[in-house]
Amino acid sequence: MKKLLAGIFGLLCATGVQARLNVVATTPDLASIAREIGGDKIELTTLARPTEDPHFVDARPSFIVKLNKADALIHGGAELETGWLRPLLEGARNAKIVSAAKGDVRCCEGVKMLEVPASLDRSKGDIHAAGNPHYLVDPENAKIVAHHIADAFGELDPTNREVYNASAKRFIESLDAKLVAWCEKLAPFKGQNIVAYHNSWLYFAERFGLKIDLFLEPKPGIPPSPAHLADVIAKMKSTGARVIIVDPYLNRKTAETVARETGATVVDVAQFPGGVKGTEDSYVALMDYLVNSLAKALGEKK
Ligand SMILES: [Zn+2]
Repeated sequence: MKKLLAGIFGLLCATGVQARLNVVATTPDLASIAREIGGDKIELTTLARPTEDPHFVDARPSFIVKLNKADALIHGGAELETGWLRPLLEGARNAKIVSAAKGDVRCCEGVKMLEVPASLDRSKGDIHAAGNPHYLVDPENAKIVAHHIADAFGELDPTNREVYNASAKRFIESLDAKLVAWCEKLAPFKGQNIVAYHNSWLYFAERFGLKIDLFLEPKPGIPPSPAHLADVIAKMKSTGARVIIVDPYLNRKTAETVARETGATVVDVAQFPGGVKGTEDSYVALMDYLVNSLAKALGEKK
């Protein structure tokens, strides 16, 4: 009898483990929100590392195995991951996560996409040819994403639907409370110019009233040239821009050279939790870091 009970208990445990949703998220920001909502009800794999360029992720063969077994794939849906994700999906052959399947969680639905061109033109190497895909640095968009993820988890795992909805609600409420504080902190710097290496901060700038429209790259994905940098330096001098932001996978040395010429400060930023030290815990921790470090740099007297 003891043996039989132990056997049944073992079986129940095994079923319990199997019942967890198998979730793959393309990038660590999406993964962080999925974790907030899914908690211990999901088994989560993140493909891109937080310090990796999301446009050019090193696609390892193990990703195909993960995608093959996934119940849900959480992705941006705005062509950020297209270049490396498409071949992986072809290799994974998983009907559960193909386009429009229940497990295909396309997070950009309902997000107001910015810089969408009238017509597609990839000929000049522009990797934002379908519009600016870095929408998750605006916390308002994180709320939209949280809804998508909770809805998808609820569809795939109806038993826990209420848990997912309650977690999404809690996450959104925490963002709302934080948004007030973040807006207040950056309010004194409204309209100020910040230079970015890559055009991944547009949605953040729009949300907090900053101007981040001068870039070290001449076009997204095209490395800086001396002529372009000379132009940037001249523009920085005329606009009084004093801060340059750089993601971890970009060339900080280039930013430092421009900073030396202009007296600007280089600030390390990341779109992903864990991309800069101290932001590993959550999307909120990352936003806290971004708002505080920018407010500090913009507030420094020169
Ligand atoms: Zn980009």
